[in-house]
Formats: sequence, C-alpha cells, structure tokens
Amino acid sequence: SGAHSSTVAIQATNDDAAASKLSCVKKGYIKDDYVHFFVRRPVRRSPIINRGYFARWAVLRRLLLQFLEPKCYSSESIHMKKQILSLGAGFDTTYFQLVEEGITPYLYVELDFKEVTSKKTALIEHHAQLKEKLGAEATICKEKGEVLGDHYKLLPVDLRDIGQLDSVMALAQLDSSLPTFIIAECVLIYLDPNSTCSIVRWASKAFSTAIFFVYEQIHPDDPFGEQMMKNLESRGCPLLSLHATPTLLAKEKLFLDQGWQRAVAWDMLKVYNEFIETQEKRRIERLELFDEFEEWYMMQEHYCVAYAINDANGIFIDFGFS
Ligand code: SAM
Repeated sequence: SGAHSSTVAIQATNDDAAASKLSCVKKGYIKDDYVHFFVRRPVRRSPIINRGYFARWAVLRRLLLQFLEPKCYSSESIHMKKQILSLGAGFDTTYFQLVEEGITPYLYVELDFKEVTSKKTALIEHHAQLKEKLGAEATICKEKGEVLGDHYKLLPVDLRDIGQLDSVMALAQLDSSLPTFIIAECVLIYLDPNSTCSIVRWASKAFSTAIFFVYEQIHPDDPFGEQMMKNLESRGCPLLSLHATPTLLAKEKLFLDQGWQRAVAWDMLKVYNEFIETQEKRRIERLELFDEFEEWYMMQEHYCVAYAINDANGIFIDFGFS
C-alpha cells in the first residue's frame, strides 16, 4: 500500500543518516566508534554534506552536554538523575558514546518503528562492543525489537499513536518529574502536522522539567526549499509537517501553542557561526578542500535547531544558545 511504501522510504532515511555520519567519522569530522556497526555499505559524501552533518552532530552534542553537566543545576541537586528520550532514534549511537565517556545518564530511551528497532536490536545483540554497554541484567528480544537494560531501553512505537507513547512511559519507567532531554532529529517533519502537534503537546504534559530538541528543515517555499521538498518527495518521503511550520517563528509557535514555557529557533547558519565552538570549526575546516560557499550558506539556511523548555524548578536558566 501507499502508506506502507512511504513507511519503508522514511525508514530508509535512517540508513542515509547513519551512512553520512560514518562518512564524517572516516574523514575525521566526528568521533563515533559505533556507527560503523550500523552501516552495511559505507559511502563517501561530498565535503558540503560532511560539514552539514558535522554541524548537526556538534550542536546536538553541545546542548546534550550542557544538559548532562552537573553545574547546570543548583547545588543541592548536583547528582540529579537525568533522562534522555530519543524519538525516531534510528541507528543513533549517542547512548554508546556517553557510556564510553563515563557520562551515562540515569535513563536513555530510544523509540522507532518496529522494523528499525528490530534491526538495531539484532545488531546490538551481535556486536560485543555494543552489547557490553547495556549492563549485565539487560534483556534483548529480537522478535519484539526490544532492549531493556538498566539505563537503556529501545522500544518499537508508532509515534503517531499517542496511546503508545503513554504505554512506553510506563514500560521504559520514564519518570515525569526528572529532567528530561527529548530529541527529535529529522523526525517530526515526516509526520502529518496533527501528529507533530500531538507529540509536542504530549511531551509538554508528560514532563515538567524538560528540553525538547528539534533539528529539521525550514523554508520550503524558495527555490532551494522547493528542490529540497521535491527530492524527498521523489524518494517517497514528503516533508508533511513543513508547510505547517515553515519558518523559525512557526517552529517556536508550535511549541508555545502546545504548552511549552519557552522556545528558541535558530537556522543552522547562525548556529554554525555563533554556537559551534571556534576551535572545532578551525579543525574541521582544514579537513577537506571546500569552495562551495554559496551552496553551503543556502543549505544551512534551510535547516534549523529549535528547542523548547519546561522549567518547573528553574534549573535550565543557563541552558541554551546564549
Ligand atoms: N534521529 C535519527 C538520526 O538523526 O540519525 C534518525 C533520523 S531518520 C531521518 C527518521 C527516523 O524517524 C527513521 O528512523 C524513522 O523510522 C523514524 N520515524 C519516522 N516516523 C516515525 C513514526 N511514525 N514512528 C516511529 N518512528 C518514526
């Protein structure tokens, strides 16, 4: 059916993301000793794509580390437990990296379609370097596409079904009062606008101390944006939510309308220029010959980071871009 083929196509965008991250690793843009387990056919991406993925990786990483840092919190809650919830996590490897770095959060939960979590479950089971990071008590069920470890849960869910999100809260033992970092990296954009709103509202109700991080496209209406939309449509995965949230202001409004206290959206050009660390930029800008500046600016203007904050206890006052 059409619905089925578009689901398959959207899942394929995950293979693309993993392959692109591996391309960045091989060129020295980012360090990730785990993503290669998830890529069957490595590809070499162009310098501009590598730089774009580097920026995407660097901004999420910097905000995540801010969130995990103890000093972000008042002195009496320095050892506060923290949760990360990744929606449409695909083959993301952040959990394994955090364990390696000795900053495992109290709970890390990943959700995706069962087809994707099943593949991820099988690969985790198969590779000791992944499996050993789950802890001794973990249960791994390939048939269900499910991993239940002490600090890590991987669960199959269709994000469009809010009832399933409630069940996942219980099954994963997510605590609605703990500081929670929600990640939606290139995910909401593929959902219909109603589902996107429902998820954003659900998350706001579910977590009183939380950050909702989004990385995705903007500006579908200029020539570059139209081309971007067409490319994905021709692959069978239209950006269904983009016309409902086409601008930075619209992304902020999405969160504020659905109950979040604060929201900030920047395009990736601004993020790259003003938030990614200068030293890091200097390092990666030497890695490959690069002369597509016009295209780089254009591309970065068509991606954004938005984050929304619920801050019941005033612990996120210093969090964010500025
Ligand atoms: N977040 C990962 C990253 O940035 O590397 C993967 C991004 S990939 C472009 C989009 C992911 O969202 C895919 O893994 C896809 O299966 C998942 N996804 C899309 N719609 C979904 C839905 N309704 N329920 C669960 N997962 C979904």
